[in-house]
Amino acid sequence: MDFSGMEKLSLVDFDDNLTATLFMAGCPFRCPFCHNGELVLHPERAEKIPFEDILDYLRKRQGVLDAVCISGGEPTLMNDLEAKIRAIRELGYLIKLDSNGYNPAILKDLVAKGLIDYIAMDIKNSKAKYSLTCGVDIDISRIEESVRFIMESGIRYEFRTTIMDEFHDYADMMAIGEWIAGAQRYFLQRYEDREGCIQHHFHQIQPQKAKEFKNIIKAYVDDVGFRGYEFND
Ligand code: SF4
Repeated sequence: MDFSGMEKLSLVDFDDNLTATLFMAGCPFRCPFCHNGELVLHPERAEKIPFEDILDYLRKRQGVLDAVCISGGEPTLMNDLEAKIRAIRELGYLIKLDSNGYNPAILKDLVAKGLIDYIAMDIKNSKAKYSLTCGVDIDISRIEESVRFIMESGIRYEFRTTIMDEFHDYADMMAIGEWIAGAQRYFLQRYEDREGCIQHHFHQIQPQKAKEFKNIIKAYVDDVGFRGYEFND
């Protein structure tokens, strides 16, 4: 299975690491705010980048780039994900995995094999509104299993939620905080309506309310930050 996109340099994906990000097509979810609508809805139309071309690029950037972020879509759908990660790691890169957490068995397997340095997992919403927020009826026990596993895994990780007026309120933040109490890091991400989104015209959570959301989560998680807002406190 091939990757369908590559961002050759990102400074925001993985701490201070200079990171290349790879995108694969396909996802079991249909989050209405998803920025990668084309990759999610029409994976058959997606570009296929020969993996050897990606490795060539990464070979040329050895000593310049630090890490590779594997993103989607949902990368745990990739049937040869392990082999691809091994090939990238052999070039000396750290691996960050972005995941919706719907394949806990694959996360466990990759972590047990020492192939992942950092996981970023979406927490779409409170459990009660999870299916509503990710656009399909899901088995929440699979998400719960991933959250439990990641928190106990011993590797570095973050949870993050893209927040919108239509989906997230104070009670949801309280429920998320209780769910992930004691987590390493959590980010509140500002919703952006972009051309590639699956649906449009949702509303951003305004800065003051976002800060109130943060204060709710801070009762449960020490390290809470923002992405996309012009402040971090
Ligand atoms: S936001 Fe992530 S989980 Fe949701 S549809 Fe897009 S790729 Fe899938």
